[in-house]
Amino acid sequence: MLISMPQMLKIAKKEHFAVGAFNVSSNMLMRAVVEEAEVTKTPAIIAIHPDELKFITDEFIAYVLNRIYKSPIPFVLHLDHGSSLNDVERAVHAGFNSVMIDGSKLPYEENVALVKHVVSLMHPIGVAVEGELGTIGDTGNSIEGGATKVIYTNPEQAVDFIEKTGADSLAVAIGTAHGIYPKDFKPELQMDILQDIVNRTSTPLVLHGGSANPDEEIAHAVKIGIQKINISSDIKHAFYVKCRDILANQELREPNQIYPDCIVSTKKVVKQKMQLFNSLGKSNCYYRD
Ligand SMILES: [Zn+2]
Repeated sequence: MLISMPQMLKIAKKEHFAVGAFNVSSNMLMRAVVEEAEVTKTPAIIAIHPDELKFITDEFIAYVLNRIYKSPIPFVLHLDHGSSLNDVERAVHAGFNSVMIDGSKLPYEENVALVKHVVSLMHPIGVAVEGELGTIGDTGNSIEGGATKVIYTNPEQAVDFIEKTGADSLAVAIGTAHGIYPKDFKPELQMDILQDIVNRTSTPLVLHGGSANPDEEIAHAVKIGIQKINISSDIKHAFYVKCRDILANQELREPNQIYPDCIVSTKKVVKQKMQLFNSLGKSNCYYRD
């Protein structure tokens, strides 16, 4: 079933878990996420970036929605890192019920104005909005990109941002980066900043760039109060490592021979993340509410 992002994250906050937002840009990745969510009875967010939407086309969204509607598991269909009104409008026309508008690289007041404007357009039609404050780092190998220097979210400013924009959720920068980290790079999350933000607001918080951070750090962040965690690189990595392995056999050409095991490998990572976020098996929480 398709539920709203505020409903999805409200229950997550109440029950102290984070919902995985998995970027899917192919039918195979979509299947890995939805089928694993169903087998384990776990709520999940289907995330698609504007560049991914360009590739899979709007027609793919009809398939995603059809698949979600028929499922007993709660899902949200979310636009990841919309950067313009065009991105947001395209997603809404295609059927997304949640969008991110990322103005984090703009000066503060411009970020506020952009998110506030998008909220004023989206709320009347029942679409939720995620904003971002501070910058997520960039490892240089992800579709989402990011900033070369991480600017941590200022907790005081976070409260002001939420009040002024009316955003339904806020992506915070506490030291994560998009993509897979280079071997010599050691990510470290600033938990005191997260705790400070949690103390000041009841708005659900989002962690981007959570791929490849140490598991203990992510689990700790969930415990302090993160309700949505974006996962993109980790599942794609699992899929294509397996794919390259299988394609070492030069004779193979049938998708139904090449991809099934790639989907299985992806599902394992999806399940690990759900477990780490403490959301595994939590779909029953949504029937009680
Ligand atoms: Zn992101």
